[in-house]
Amino acid sequence: MNTVTTRTRQLQNIIPSIATSDGAGVKLRRSIGAQTNLRVDPFLMLDEFGTDNPGDYIAGFPPHPHRGFETVTYMLDGRMQHRDHLGNVGDLGPGSVQWMTAGRGVIHSEMPQQESGRMRGFQLWINLPAREKMKPAAYRDIPPTEIPQVELPGGGRVKVIAGTLVLADKQISGPVNNCARRLSTDPLYFDVALPAGASFRHAVNAEHSAFLYAYEGSLEVGAAGQLQKLAAQAAGVLSAGDEVAVVAGKKGARFILLAARPLHEPVVQRGPFVMNTREEIEQAMLDYQNGEFVKSAA
Ligand code: FE
Repeated sequence: MNTVTTRTRQLQNIIPSIATSDGAGVKLRRSIGAQTNLRVDPFLMLDEFGTDNPGDYIAGFPPHPHRGFETVTYMLDGRMQHRDHLGNVGDLGPGSVQWMTAGRGVIHSEMPQQESGRMRGFQLWINLPAREKMKPAAYRDIPPTEIPQVELPGGGRVKVIAGTLVLADKQISGPVNNCARRLSTDPLYFDVALPAGASFRHAVNAEHSAFLYAYEGSLEVGAAGQLQKLAAQAAGVLSAGDEVAVVAGKKGARFILLAARPLHEPVVQRGPFVMNTREEIEQAMLDYQNGEFVKSAA
């Protein structure tokens, strides 16, 4: 058995989200990736969208390309429709996840399917290693019924989107990156809700990067006696260690926990293209202009 002392990860850096817009004018809050020095390898970007005002989302994301990474959309409220050049049409309703591997190229649109009401969720970009950047595009729609929801003994619950939740003697794997099929970045993606004062503690691979993003309430993060506060609408990047430990604030907390194996490769990004060199970015733009993204569907 492992006799090494557990090291609880502390808050190393807080990346506040900033209001911005993307697509055809969708208002959102960007934390990870708001600047190129604010990535958390292999996580390139995290956007939170959340509004009751249709004017903030109605224009959606008309057709646009991606190459070299994965996009993960997690809907909390509202409904979007995904369409791509491969012929996939995905209905993204409340609690569903869309896991898209852009690989060598995808052209898709993400458009709201409602004219009023609340639209809320996240889009996360996870980088691909150099050897996988040009693999064929893949698309997966995951309905909420496929995402395990696990009650915690001390109150609260965890939705296991990617990776495996270990709780006492139980192991609960999410639909993505489970034992049957591991992604090379080996991502863990939990959505956790805690009542006021409840705690949550979970092992995280010591070699992986990890961060938390609170979207309701607040958290105290770290080992007992060394707790550090993380307010909502900010990403808390975690230090090295092999477990994460948090306590919910006075109003409880809802947060996402992300961890994954870092790639340690150069990142060159131009908008929706993320490659390792400038030459590869230039090639991506040429391929897009020449219609190669569409051809690669065949
Ligand atoms: Fe997109």
